[in-house]
Amino acid sequence: MKKLPDTISDSALRPIAKKVYEGRPVTAADARRLLATNSILDLGRIASYSREKLHGNAAYYGVSINLNFTNICELRCPLCAFSRGKGEPGAYLLALPDIERRVKKAADDGVDEVHIVGGLNPELELSYFEEMLRLIKRIKPGLFITAFTAVEIDYFARNEGITIEETLSRLIKAGLGAMPGGGAEIFSPRVRKVIAPLKIPGKRWLEIMRAAHLAGLKTNATMLYNHLETKADIVDHLNRIRDLQEETRGFKTFVPLPFHGENTGITAKRAVTTGYDDIRVYAASRIFLHNVPHIKALWMYLGEKMAQVLLRFGVDDFSGTYSGEKVVHAAGAATSDRGTEAFLRRLILNAGLKPVRTTAAYGARK
Ligand code: SF4
Repeated sequence: MKKLPDTISDSALRPIAKKVYEGRPVTAADARRLLATNSILDLGRIASYSREKLHGNAAYYGVSINLNFTNICELRCPLCAFSRGKGEPGAYLLALPDIERRVKKAADDGVDEVHIVGGLNPELELSYFEEMLRLIKRIKPGLFITAFTAVEIDYFARNEGITIEETLSRLIKAGLGAMPGGGAEIFSPRVRKVIAPLKIPGKRWLEIMRAAHLAGLKTNATMLYNHLETKADIVDHLNRIRDLQEETRGFKTFVPLPFHGENTGITAKRAVTTGYDDIRVYAASRIFLHNVPHIKALWMYLGEKMAQVLLRFGVDDFSGTYSGEKVVHAAGAATSDRGTEAFLRRLILNAGLKPVRTTAAYGARK
């Protein structure tokens, strides 16, 4: 069988393929080249080589529900279509009995994981979140809980007047299993100032993640693209994730997210991404982030057909059923707000891969 570099026809990509084949990290200049190439079949060969080395022909998916407990948020980031001010039409807060009812139903339906994120609501104390986690664990102790972005953790700690470490330790004690990667957006201060001016800076997001990793939590990291960022901003973002990962090994999954601009305050909108744009970002992420085990495609953001194609461009995690997702649908995502296990398995099998049902802990169940 031919070696990977010998299968690459684009001479600009061959040296990158050689590094990947030899297990050497690629450079920021390589990442810029990957993000600019039109040779997507070569890109697919290199990204698939990395993917298969890590995961063979497995493609992971989860059976999960989303709990977006409140959309009342102090920050009102321009990029966000989900948040509301208190008292504004459409503003809501789920009371704990509501959450209990939803989780009981989901547990009866056989869900493995609960995914929880919400707005920064000043009326909610840390005890509300602790009780939320405990009640979920009381319903079914085996339910895996992935909850609270670094932005939320920072907010809880400041509201409570306690350290990040204490906040994390109390939530872990109450049942927190892992953290999602939201709030990273794009680390560039220039772009952040426009799309999320009041959100914690990228530097702080990374500090919270470092603390979470040191506390023993595995986390995701996201990257929001196709708004105002440049390719250099994307490479800088990837680089910072890779550097922290060298130190902590706490990121389990990287999740690129194409921006959906409907109902947001971002006026200089770009057209929606093309297939090539998504492929370049996902494949470059897989190739550059050699030290992050999983690359996840959220089919709700990408559309199920594009997400399926990305399974051959570096993606090994097909995300979950996510019943009840609200955040990206508020911004105009045209996908369904719930998937079924059969739907996810069909897409994976149809791409010639082996579906593996799992949770954010990646302990395979079937
Ligand atoms: S993106 Fe998050 S922090 Fe910003 S307004 Fe929306 S819910 Fe609040």
